[in-house]
Amino acid sequence: MSTAYTESLNKLIEEFGKLPGIGPKTAQRLAFYILKAQPTEAMALAHAIKDVKTRIKRCEICYNYSEQQTCEICSDTKRDKEIICIVEQPKDVIAMEKTGTCKWVYHVLGGHIAPLDNVEPDDLTIDKLVERVRNGNIKEVIMATNPNIAGDGTALYISSLLKITGVKITRLARGLPTGSTIEYASGKMLTDAIIGRQEFE
Ligand SMILES: [Zn+2]
Repeated sequence: MSTAYTESLNKLIEEFGKLPGIGPKTAQRLAFYILKAQPTEAMALAHAIKDVKTRIKRCEICYNYSEQQTCEICSDTKRDKEIICIVEQPKDVIAMEKTGTCKWVYHVLGGHIAPLDNVEPDDLTIDKLVERVRNGNIKEVIMATNPNIAGDGTALYISSLLKITGVKITRLARGLPTGSTIEYASGKMLTDAIIGRQEFE
């Protein structure tokens, strides 16, 4: 980095440069933008960053992001708490909710089983899910892990654990292209997959 910049400006360029998709040129442009911005505008960005890192935690029931102990979906009295939809990431909850067809609650695994990347079942919230199904009055569990090898493998593992509870296990219909992800599926495709969900074999 050029020493023509002051130390704090260098630091800001360096930090912007660590963000995904931001090259050195863009990092420099953003840093200069902040430098020239009104103090209130620049500080609003700083506060927004601080807030997401200090206020957001995991819902103690479903492990989705939340600013309260229990997230808005789990606290919603109009939701059918007897149906749990299992997804890999909080982003998937957003994708599912956008379809407007989901009146159930979720369970966010925090990823998928991937032994090659050292992600074992214990690294996910699978044990918490099994506990939830055992203790709650659950009539259906919907597997909405990604339709790829890792997602399918994770769903299979979970279903083997849940079988003993006797709960009905379904999975999204195979309308979603194999190898794709819930996050990038179109709303229409996802809605069809939800409506056409089938018993998990
Ligand atoms: Zn929740």
